[in-house]
Amino acid sequence: MGSLKIENIRKSFGHVDVLKGIDLEVKDGEFVIFVGPSGCGKSTLLRVIAGLEDATSGDILIDGKKVNNTPPAKRGIAMVFQTYALYPHLSVRDNMGLGLKQAGKPADEIKERTGIASSMLSLDEYLERRPAELSGGQRQRVAIGRAIVREPQLFLFDEPLSNLDAALRVNTRLEIARLHRQLKATMIYVTHDQVEAMTLADKIVVLNKGKIEQVGSPMELYNAPQTIFVAGFIGSPQ
Ligand code: ADP
Ligand code: MG
Repeated sequence: MGSLKIENIRKSFGHVDVLKGIDLEVKDGEFVIFVGPSGCGKSTLLRVIAGLEDATSGDILIDGKKVNNTPPAKRGIAMVFQTYALYPHLSVRDNMGLGLKQAGKPADEIKERTGIASSMLSLDEYLERRPAELSGGQRQRVAIGRAIVREPQLFLFDEPLSNLDAALRVNTRLEIARLHRQLKATMIYVTHDQVEAMTLADKIVVLNKGKIEQVGSPMELYNAPQTIFVAGFIGSPQ
């Protein structure tokens, strides 16, 4: 299970109101894309959902349960960042297994789950290498693997492909789509890329200046944008 409910979330940094009352429901297994201009609050919203940042007010519910005071590691969420955030001194295997090790899982279980994730992501040959010996695309697959081994109900991706070249972006996007089908997990995914948004999403959420402008399927937004901002953002190539 991995349903999510966001109720009137506000977040301010000092006097700056970054999130100005966000309400959103995400169903179990849905693939939801957040789009919106740089600085509109997409990463902040993901961090609030993950518990890496406390909201100023409002509630986050996972499977109907309020998690405002639940620490990130206990929310059943894994987050994948643009910058991969791998440990340079650890092998691929140890990078992927570190979270499980910290959670006190036994070595044989870590090995088994790491093995499953690495074969899903075609990383079997690279398990003993360090991140510096991998391409950007392989590093991002390790970061995705590290998320998968924790068997989260909910994945949060923050512009995961934006550091990859065009060809790798397409491959990794298809891989994420396949993982979504395979794992049947809920995924929330921030992107600037219109093709990623239109091809991956069940539902697109358009954010602007800390508010939701419109929520709908790719076709609904494309065919019936409710504001000029949405029309500009979804309708024309950027
Ligand atoms: P996006 O991901 O949509 O580009 P962010 O959520 O990163 O936007 O940032 C939204 C706004 O919040 C920006 O103006 C940014 O400068 C501000 N902001 C984000 N994190 C912090 C922080 N820790 N302290 C102060 N301001 C922040
Ligand atoms: Mg961001």
